[in-house]
Amino acid sequence: MTNHSIDSIRAGLLKKEFTAEELTKQALAYAEAENPKTNAYLTFSPERALAAAKAVDAKIAAGQDIGALAGVPVAVKDVIVTKGLRTTCASKLLENYIPPYDATAVIRLEQAGGIIIGKANCDEFAMGSSNENSAFGPVRNPVALDRVPGGSSGGSAAVVAQNTAVVSLGSDTGGSIRQPASFCGITGVTPTYGRVSRYGLTAFASSLDHIGPFSRNVRDSARLLQVIAGKDEMDATSADVPVSDYVAALDGNVKGMKIGVPKEWMDGLPSETGDLIQAAVDQLVKLGCEVKEIHLPHTAYAVATYYIVCTAEASSNLARYDGVRYTNRAASANTLADMYRVTRDEGFGAECKRRIMLGTYVLSAGYYDAYYLKAQKVRALIAQDYAKAFEQVDAIVGPVSPHPAFKLGEKVEDPSQIYLADIYTVTGDLTGIPCMSVPCGKTADGLPVGLQILTKHFDEAGMLRLAEAYERSTN
Ligand code: GLN
Repeated sequence: MTNHSIDSIRAGLLKKEFTAEELTKQALAYAEAENPKTNAYLTFSPERALAAAKAVDAKIAAGQDIGALAGVPVAVKDVIVTKGLRTTCASKLLENYIPPYDATAVIRLEQAGGIIIGKANCDEFAMGSSNENSAFGPVRNPVALDRVPGGSSGGSAAVVAQNTAVVSLGSDTGGSIRQPASFCGITGVTPTYGRVSRYGLTAFASSLDHIGPFSRNVRDSARLLQVIAGKDEMDATSADVPVSDYVAALDGNVKGMKIGVPKEWMDGLPSETGDLIQAAVDQLVKLGCEVKEIHLPHTAYAVATYYIVCTAEASSNLARYDGVRYTNRAASANTLADMYRVTRDEGFGAECKRRIMLGTYVLSAGYYDAYYLKAQKVRALIAQDYAKAFEQVDAIVGPVSPHPAFKLGEKVEDPSQIYLADIYTVTGDLTGIPCMSVPCGKTADGLPVGLQILTKHFDEAGMLRLAEAYERSTN
């Protein structure tokens, strides 16, 4: 189990070295035994996993096509709904919520033979950068157990780094796939907005939310993305753009590719991270890429813009958790208004409450123009920065986070400190371009650091090609 890739599982199944059922049993037993170290899984799904594994074995016996993810143990972030399988969003409010339907990404990965072995811990409603906002306890980073795995998809990153799943699904609204991938030393991909259906992804900030893969190598992310990408009529914002062959794109040939490194990102980057990013850029030059400095002049406004837009949308999206539908209901309320109030007061954690208040404020009649409308205008300027940059380069590379994984509890007292560290990730979401993190070495303390790669809308193939060429040259 522990070092399998999607390809090695496929080969093992077809050569009959093991059955999907054997592998699934082993994966479940291993994941359940290892989980107390990290708290990365919130729920295991043995019945569902074994039924899926038996279906794969039956196809093998019948000589049928087994699907691109046959027998692959997968974890799914607990903000992505799974029919009949508890989906908590790491919130006390949804502690007992059993969804009546599957997310499109879940349907597609199971149709391809993927085996969902459990649901991964995360920050409550995907709000956070350290997984410390989960109502069910934080996740520990498998690389250094006294440190956070990043967030909000901390559990999805941790299970892949811990080898308790081969790949996983996370979600990214402002960095929640790339930053935990960077902190845990694995690959994480945020596709173009609209590339993967959001149907069944619990809404945090609908104009920014993405589903994407985590894996231990770039190829596995390409394979998983291939399966979940593509138009879905259940999501009006999913794009009707052909899905290219992401695995075929991994040809190692990046000679002549034009790469931009944003000056605004590298200036002031602490050397602990900056030296590794610079070394990765030097490596890209060795691979034949043409590297040049570029400018993203509105970088300084990115965090403020993101936290206005995302809190505004969150305040609206979270209004549905009112004690009437989905959620636990306060036992002590006497009137309807009281029931709403007490349910929400008891159910939401501090970070969600902070965002509901901020979001309601920036949307209020008196402040809408000053904050929300202005943020939308700055969002357009940030998109223009990227459009101009992509007139000169094929890809942009830089850091994911200014610092590697920090200690549990180190930053909980100061949310604005945590918000500011999202500087390099939020613009990818605000613009909707594909972006990813690929490991680029470790600090002197042995903590992983990720290189961020961003490309034009729908050029996931180019992004993955560059990442895989880099990975290949450094392994
Ligand atoms: N850290 C960011 C936030 O707290 C991003 C979260 C996300 O991408 N879901 O909002």
